[in-house]
Amino acid sequence: MTVSILYVVSTPIGNLEDLTPRAVETLKKVDLIAAEDTRHSGRLMQHFAISTPMLAVHDHNERQRAQILVEKLSQGQSIALISDAGTPLISDPGYHLVSAVREAGYKVVPVVGACALIAALSVSGLATDRFSFYGFLPSKSSGRTQKLQQLAKVTHTQVFYESPHRIVAMVSDIVLVMGSHRQIVLARELTKTFETIYGGPAADVQAWLLADHNQQKGEFVVLIEGAEEEQLHDIGPEEERMLTLLLAELPIKKAAAITASITGHKKKALYDRALELQGK
Ligand code: SAM
Repeated sequence: MTVSILYVVSTPIGNLEDLTPRAVETLKKVDLIAAEDTRHSGRLMQHFAISTPMLAVHDHNERQRAQILVEKLSQGQSIALISDAGTPLISDPGYHLVSAVREAGYKVVPVVGACALIAALSVSGLATDRFSFYGFLPSKSSGRTQKLQQLAKVTHTQVFYESPHRIVAMVSDIVLVMGSHRQIVLARELTKTFETIYGGPAADVQAWLLADHNQQKGEFVVLIEGAEEEQLHDIGPEEERMLTLLLAELPIKKAAAITASITGHKKKALYDRALELQGK
């Protein structure tokens, strides 16, 4: 094995068959495996009869361990970085280590494989020419709603990770903020026995999810279709709230003008909406 290289090795996201022969060979030949959770990865190592020593490198010790690992590279050792599942650094530890190793001038080599976001995107049927990945949204509804509001007018596909504890809440926040017609796709338990890919208007997906508890279990990738041209002109919940508050104090024209100058939304659209709100 070539010396002084950090290999970033992708591991399966469910199906053990997805560990590539190159990954197995790399994990067998390196001097050390830096693993997010050595006990968790121990099962994978056992399955593939890999006996390379492991060192835990996780969110809480990564910066300090990075220095030790750079030192080992400087002594001519080779190291493989793995996380609990999928590609390291993708909503997983490894960023500080890879930066430190590159900064020290050593080679970092990807040993490619599974990644839940790419797997989900590839089967979602949503546009893939442009997309953004946001990892996990804030766990509290207020933070999550705020983030979704910021993203409501993004015109390309948006990809998120979500845990089973929050999947119902997240989908209901999407319906609330982005509207019941926005197309979304849930990619659940990819590569595993209960793999399910379900998409449609957000309200339909919400109803489907609520109707079957089993569909709320496991690991999820959530994909949201980009906003369409006409949705860009929709008045969002925050704009409507502001308009409603101002309407309680001011005449329609003034309320619409102030909301327009604060939000940048078209005055005419706000004026029309204000008329509707006042039942005129
Ligand atoms: N590094 C991983 C990757 O390359 O996808 C992601 C790690 S992140 C800590 C774990 C999250 O990824 C899960 O909560 C879930 O949102 C998503 N995920 C991982 N495996 C999955 C699977 N088999 N099916 C669907 N989502 C999965």
